[in-house]
Amino acid sequence: MKHPRLKIKKGKEKSLLRFHPWIFSGAVESLPETGDDRIVEIVDYQEKLIGYGFIEYKSQIVCRIFEFSQYPTTVDESYWTQKIHQAYTFKKQLIQDGTNCFRLVHAEGDFLPGLIIDVYNETAVIQFRTTGTWYLKEIVRNALLSLGYQYIFSKSPAYSNWTQGWLGDAGPQHTTVMENGLKFSVDLIKGQKTGFFLDQRENRKLLSAYSKNKKVLNCFSYTGGFSIYALVGGATHVTSVDISKDAIENATKNAELNEFTARHEGIAADCFDFLRKKTEQYDLIILDPPAFCKDIRSVPQASRGYKDINLSAMRIIEKGGLIFTFSCSQHISRDLFQKIVFGAAADSGRKVRILHQLSQGPDHPINIYHPEGDYLKGLVLEVM
Ligand code: SAH
Repeated sequence: MKHPRLKIKKGKEKSLLRFHPWIFSGAVESLPETGDDRIVEIVDYQEKLIGYGFIEYKSQIVCRIFEFSQYPTTVDESYWTQKIHQAYTFKKQLIQDGTNCFRLVHAEGDFLPGLIIDVYNETAVIQFRTTGTWYLKEIVRNALLSLGYQYIFSKSPAYSNWTQGWLGDAGPQHTTVMENGLKFSVDLIKGQKTGFFLDQRENRKLLSAYSKNKKVLNCFSYTGGFSIYALVGGATHVTSVDISKDAIENATKNAELNEFTARHEGIAADCFDFLRKKTEQYDLIILDPPAFCKDIRSVPQASRGYKDINLSAMRIIEKGGLIFTFSCSQHISRDLFQKIVFGAAADSGRKVRILHQLSQGPDHPINIYHPEGDYLKGLVLEVM
């Protein structure tokens, strides 16, 4: 099949030749009309083929490249099916026994821009983030069915008018998944993101190893992922705090599922207030807030938010205690995050050491040519 051509302006092809998958509107000579697949072939000013991508007319990133190739490539159903199957084979090698939920497709990190697929047992939850991927929904659904997933749920972004719902047979709203042998109840429909924060799997496991005999405070706990790992690691008591009542109910349910109710307490509250007012001390504190900054303009305000919670945590951590602190804002770089935490440490007047520098799990790979994919930053701090 022949796709319409998108021509890049002279001098604007450099980042593409280095495999960065985004084309900004200013780099394009003219945008071609496309059919329902929104797919174009991309050429440089001398008409040399660069690759294939999805057009998104209303976005600043007008095209996202899914295939870099100097030679014509057939992009048809078998192309997509093969790509999803390859992602599955690759991810399966990374996922250990005792885990049946993982990220099967991580957009640019899996060379499938605009597409996120998280799997939970027999159910796959998809986020279509671009028109081009939305138009592929039948093909994606068939590929997932052929991999053995029975139910497929589409969670589309709020700004789109694409259907949110089951693609085909309706599955149950809740499913209980296993992660490193622990049980978690996931609300596939009403839960945040696709239902569970799969990107923290490795970090939760690390936390477990530090939890023995510790009194733990899990801030922005969502459904208690870190809390359950702390409990299995031998924490004496864990408090989960989240602004969402539903999340806290789910955290309580997860404590029950793993038989840890006696040592767990869930509180629905704003963590900024909660932390500021606290005087009680903890041995281990987790700070995993939502992305405070959605664009580059909100970086200063977001930085103040991160500093605020980190400073509060440093005030109530026991001597020799640990803080697991995270930022999942794409626009807060690793370097900036460490500077913000440095600011909090300096204001607290306490001695602080970095024990670990953390990132997202390997099922959320970072395409080296797309550094924007390095979104989850974490530090494990020892506070003296
Ligand atoms: N650590 C969690 C994921 C946290 S996601 C895990 O491993 O599963 C961020 C959470 O912060 C969400 O559950 C959201 O409801 C909560 N949240 C957002 N703003 C908040 C606030 N001001 N106070 C407390 N919780 C908040």
